[in-house]
Amino acid sequence: MAPSLHVVMYHYVLDPETAKFPRLKGMSLSDFRAQVAELSSAFEMATLESSLAYLDGTYSPRRELCLLTFDDGVTDHFNNVLPVLAERKVQGIFSVITGCMDEHRVADVHMNHFLMASLDFADYRNAFLAEVQQSDETLVKQVDANAAAARRTYVWDSEEVASFKYFYNFILPPDVRSPVIRRLFERHIGPEAEVAKETYLDWEQARTMQSAGMVIGGHSHCHRPLSTLAEEELQAELTLCRSLLDRHLRPQALWPFCYPYGKLDSFNDFTVETLQSLGFCCGLSTEAGPAQAGSDLFRIRRIDCKLATPRSLTTASI
Ligand SMILES: [Zn+2]
Repeated sequence: MAPSLHVVMYHYVLDPETAKFPRLKGMSLSDFRAQVAELSSAFEMATLESSLAYLDGTYSPRRELCLLTFDDGVTDHFNNVLPVLAERKVQGIFSVITGCMDEHRVADVHMNHFLMASLDFADYRNAFLAEVQQSDETLVKQVDANAAAARRTYVWDSEEVASFKYFYNFILPPDVRSPVIRRLFERHIGPEAEVAKETYLDWEQARTMQSAGMVIGGHSHCHRPLSTLAEEELQAELTLCRSLLDRHLRPQALWPFCYPYGKLDSFNDFTVETLQSLGFCCGLSTEAGPAQAGSDLFRIRRIDCKLATPRSLTTASI
């Protein structure tokens, strides 16, 4: 069988000794270290360049390829991931949310993670929904109305948590969600700008990562599902993301993009056209599976890091 490219997707990589939110769902640093060692011995560790050459058919590797990708541009990636990758001379692709870095905002998706990691889930959910109900009585009725889509999107969560996350990220209009989550966040976690500075990479850290051989990618400016934006809004969102990367970072031959949320319904053809016109070279999705030579560069499949053992990656089940 011809070799495949396995693009592994990470979010938080936590050192339990220093993590501000140890209950966050992420991989522990020790598991990460062991996983990189295991993957490095089983696969050819790819760069973005060799991955794209494989996908467009100009590079035929003798072994299976494995590319490591890290979403959301969190400081874990500088503190915990970078030293491990630099030591092994493995390239990582780090996709950053430019609004979080530049304006010291915490993305709504992360506010939800931090609150879930800090409070009892039922108490938090009830408090959140009670506040939503005050601004719109009909919306809360939809909280459990998308169970199938929620399960498909959040395969690692309980049904109750998946339904809540789906409602929160995809159903609630941002102008209803944002004020509610910001009130709860300030009350239970702290001032947004301070938390943002602790949570996300700053530009200098990102440049240091580039100097160490890493690649920075775009992950949008505001981290909203791009298929929900009107065309003008989408263009503004992606143009701003790209211009901030150019302004603050070192030049790169290739600029990848990673779709927020990333399932096929979270972006569309217009999103891809806009990314191409801005000079992005590829799009990373969260659809599961290996990437094969000849497949669409703007719909690259990935594997969640929890499933990424050499054995599971090379069996047909995923
Ligand atoms: Zn993300």
